[in-house]
Amino acid sequence: MNDRFLEGRIALVTGATSGIGLAVAEALGAAGAALHINGLGSAAEVQAALEAVRAAGAPAAVHHAADLRDPAAIGAMMRAVGALDILVNNAGIQHAAPLAEMPDERWDALIAVNLSACFHTMKAALPGMAARGFGRVVNIASVHGLVASVNKAPYVAAKHGLVGLSKVAALEMAGKGSRESGGVTVNCLCPGWVETPLSEPQIEARAGGAGRDSGIRALLAEKQPSLRMTLPSEIAALAVWLCRREAHNLSGAALPVDGGWTAQ
Ligand code: NAD
Repeated sequence: MNDRFLEGRIALVTGATSGIGLAVAEALGAAGAALHINGLGSAAEVQAALEAVRAAGAPAAVHHAADLRDPAAIGAMMRAVGALDILVNNAGIQHAAPLAEMPDERWDALIAVNLSACFHTMKAALPGMAARGFGRVVNIASVHGLVASVNKAPYVAAKHGLVGLSKVAALEMAGKGSRESGGVTVNCLCPGWVETPLSEPQIEARAGGAGRDSGIRALLAEKQPSLRMTLPSEIAALAVWLCRREAHNLSGAALPVDGGWTAQ
């Protein structure tokens, strides 16, 4: 599967300084795409991410520091990126608390990063994809785009919103391009538990004093019947597959990668 079928393609991955986004950027680079990566982090973390993407095989890698809570910063990033073949909206944040205790500023930040930023990047990228007859938008949603859990009001609202937004974009792009050009598709990936820094505080909260492994077991036993965490590289492999030309008719989907969570 690891051929260089994306040579000559240009990709932007948001939130690619860590976790799933970094793994997706590495996998797209390994398939030959030139990478624009966005994400927060220290100079050393950004440098490490750029080096990892280049080491994976990307012919070029550039970082954009845009804070995705700020539409003006997103606009400036999209103008700097220019023509784009692949857009992966991955950046996301979490805050767990009962709805009645959710701080207003956490609601605003979660909706801004996990939902509104995806609207702004897609609005900028889709017209060029439509004109060229090829484009891939892969939105990293969550099982929480399909079902709810307690204490995650803004996260569940944003991810359900992202699934709906992606369906609208998929419909609007459905007639663009051809089988030969590859068309323009828009899909969501909906992971259950993935081993990244984002899930770590929730593992620690379940672990109590009993250790990380027992925290993981407790988390998975609640919801994910496979009792296995997903690795970021496994999400990345699916994102790369969606970029293949033969995936031209897979659009408007919200694909669970959740060990059976949403089958229950
Ligand atoms: P992570 O915390 O490892 O990485 C998040 C990335 O988003 C980082 O690069 C961070 O710098 C970036 N980011 C956060 N706020 C930003 C902002 N304001 N502007 C720009 N970049 C910002 O998280 P992860 O687990 O890799 O999550 C990636 C995506 O996957 C998220 O959308 C998350 O909701 C989703 N997801 C994760 C899991 C899981 O279990 N880890 C499960 C389902 C869905």
